[in-house]
Amino acid sequence: MSDIRHQLEIIRDQISTAARQSGRSSDAIKLLAVSKTYASSIIEKAYAEGQVLFGENRVQELLEKVPQLPSELQWHLIGHLQKNKIRKILPLIHTIHSIDSLSIADSVNRIAGELNLKIPIYLQVNISHDQAKFGFPPADAPAALDHLQNLPHLQIQGLMTIPEYSADPEQTRPHFASLRDLRNQLKTSSGLPLPGLSMGMSHDYPIAIQEGATIIRVGSALFGKR
Ligand SMILES: *Cc1c(COP(=O)(O)O)cnc(C)c1O
Repeated sequence: MSDIRHQLEIIRDQISTAARQSGRSSDAIKLLAVSKTYASSIIEKAYAEGQVLFGENRVQELLEKVPQLPSELQWHLIGHLQKNKIRKILPLIHTIHSIDSLSIADSVNRIAGELNLKIPIYLQVNISHDQAKFGFPPADAPAALDHLQNLPHLQIQGLMTIPEYSADPEQTRPHFASLRDLRNQLKTSSGLPLPGLSMGMSHDYPIAIQEGATIIRVGSALFGKR
């Protein structure tokens, strides 16, 4: 049995367990395999085991990998996007998790329009007020959402966050809960469905699921240490 098959089994089991613990269906939780730094040959093994969604944080790496892999793979951008890269990347990706400013949202919307695309996006929120992190402060999220609602080539899925790292994942639980609470408030105030919560990584995804994650972004727990 390949390592990747084994790791995927473990992760799928943990997803089911965490879903059950919180009275959710495991069908409501998607696994995004974060393949940054891993070779295309390894990504292909995961695909052979039924993994279809892959996440990358760097545009350059995506541009190199996508043509090397089957077109059935669904690519999600999870890292900060620069304006001059948008036109190249949009035709290759399915979803952007890292919409972290209104100006990038405007540019993605304009170029998606020119390319006749509608791009699913998550609004990145800096939930733990981490100085070093990209994303909207929670207090700015309502106004940001108001603005995004008027951009016809973006399809707003929900919120995404990368909380401050803590070795003890229980320390991160309140941040996941805050993102969920913020989503619930925004859902009421905006009337948008906002089904998605992109949160949880290798060391804390079961807790993110217990707090409502709908898509977890898992790299090293699947592919091994980078
Ligand atoms: C790298 C990365 C991940 C995955 O991290 P792991 O700890 O390897 O699971 C998730 N989200 C983002 C935004 C990342 O850059």
